[in-house]
Amino acid sequence: MSQAHALDALIEALRCLPGVGVRSASRMAFHLLQHDRAAAEQLAQALQHACQSVRHCRLCNTFTEQDICSTCQDPTRDSGLLCVVETPADQSALERTQAYRGLYFVLMGKLSPLDGIGPKDIGLSRLLRRVEEGQVREVILATNFTAEGEATAHVLSELLKTRGVQVTRLSRGVPVGSELEYVDLGTIAYALSDRR
Ligand SMILES: [Zn+2]
Repeated sequence: MSQAHALDALIEALRCLPGVGVRSASRMAFHLLQHDRAAAEQLAQALQHACQSVRHCRLCNTFTEQDICSTCQDPTRDSGLLCVVETPADQSALERTQAYRGLYFVLMGKLSPLDGIGPKDIGLSRLLRRVEEGQVREVILATNFTAEGEATAHVLSELLKTRGVQVTRLSRGVPVGSELEYVDLGTIAYALSDRR
């Protein structure tokens, strides 16, 4: 591969990142190659290592290097509470509030018919199976307050209602259109305590 081809391939690869177009990808590639070769090597190794070692928790679907993640293994957690979030970043936001001591299910996405993302893509059947196993008494829907997050919460609540668990939604303290990851912790903690 010639040098120009290697550079093109790097730029093309960087474009897989969300929101990164040709110009940003070129800037990143030039920066790494021109100013920070050590960081570039480190990035390549970290990516490879993460791809090899990170997988999904068998119970909650979040990222972990174990079969079952440390949160799911924690015996002090209330296994009757199951909080459904879109991403591990949303889960981290809830954890940082220290206001929640139940367990999680991480969808790793949201329903998005326009992008071709349906129930199968967000592990709905695994979530329903988890609820049917019987320990869960309340499912807290903490998908984001975006149009897709709300639609996902609606579909989930319809499915879960028929399964004999209480279904609650974070209260409207969280601004419309916002993603939990970017909401301040006090607001999330309030939305959690005021769920309905
Ligand atoms: Zn887990």
